[in-house]
Amino acid sequence: MNLRVPGPTPCPDEVLASASQQMINHRGPEFKDLIFRVTSNLQRAFETKNDVLILTASGTAALEAAIVNTLSPGDKVLAVVVGVFGERFAQIAEAYGAEVLRLTVPHGSAAEPDEVRQALKGNPAIKAVLITHNETSTGVTNDLSAIAQVVKEEFDKLLLVDAVSSIGALPLPVDEWRCDVVTTGSQKAWMSPPGIAMVSVSPQAWKAYETAKMPRFYLDFGKAKSYLERGQTPWTPAVSVLFGLDKALERLLSEGLPRIHENHAAVGDACRTGIKGLGLDLFPDERYASNTVTAIKVPPGVDAAALLERLRTRYNVILAGGQQDLSGKIIRVGHMGYVSIEDIDIVLDALQASLTDLGVVQAGV
Ligand SMILES: *Cc1c(COP(=O)(O)O)cnc(C)c1O
Repeated sequence: MNLRVPGPTPCPDEVLASASQQMINHRGPEFKDLIFRVTSNLQRAFETKNDVLILTASGTAALEAAIVNTLSPGDKVLAVVVGVFGERFAQIAEAYGAEVLRLTVPHGSAAEPDEVRQALKGNPAIKAVLITHNETSTGVTNDLSAIAQVVKEEFDKLLLVDAVSSIGALPLPVDEWRCDVVTTGSQKAWMSPPGIAMVSVSPQAWKAYETAKMPRFYLDFGKAKSYLERGQTPWTPAVSVLFGLDKALERLLSEGLPRIHENHAAVGDACRTGIKGLGLDLFPDERYASNTVTAIKVPPGVDAAALLERLRTRYNVILAGGQQDLSGKIIRVGHMGYVSIEDIDIVLDALQASLTDLGVVQAGV
């Protein structure tokens, strides 16, 4: 099976082998070595000196953690919403009583730094900006570097980043871009099984933590940090996933971040070129197209569900559909983590064959 959804993503055999080791005491010396090694390797992968905390949870919990550890009910926040995940981040903030101002961008487009500037200028009480680096639902990457420049250099607001489907695949030098909380999940770019969320926390975020009044317990950064100092986690961690992540990080860092980033850029480019070569249209404005997930318009007259079904049952290729409003309108190819151009070629061949099977004659083929 060729699993090409935007998470969970395939894992290298050595990661799976590592994840299948016998259990260890999570309050013992082996675990201490493991969590120290994983944490310091994550700091290298995040390009940060900030604390990196490991939570046993999915990516959404990391978003929730970013909010509840830095904000208080009634705080004003700006949520940059370019798709489903940006909207989720905004909804979590609302659920905990933040006053959320949305900067909403049409699906398929990215946020412009100047729109963020104008929103912050017009609302000086805003305390934090929530932004999705890579919007997995539309296949769009925001220009986080430029937006962070506005948020940090011009307004000095807290910057909370959903990097769930970017960091580890796309460049995101956390310290250079001054991101206060950066969140990700093991099953996206990290070549690991689902179950672990990782967050970096800047000194400014820790300062906000001191006065943040939103309720929190399981996801409390302070608890995670104080246990980490002893080489532990406050609650029983997903030990097996950490074994896998440990191996995956070793692999990622020995390859080197520049090569990892170049590989994703090449794979993204190959996917987009191939899709257009099949006569299909990309969903997002190509200037903002993501190098970890490609969203494709479903051609007129084609049933998206039938196409996905055909790909899976006849060609062993598993792609994702669209979420919410985009259901039936787009299909998505995930290409983050353990992926090569050959994997994309398999997807493109299967897509062409499936469209032919469904009787769709593609222009340009
Ligand atoms: C996958 C994803 C999430 C949610 O992660 P879960 O692990 O499914 O909770 C959040 N944001 C983005 C951008 C994602 O791609």
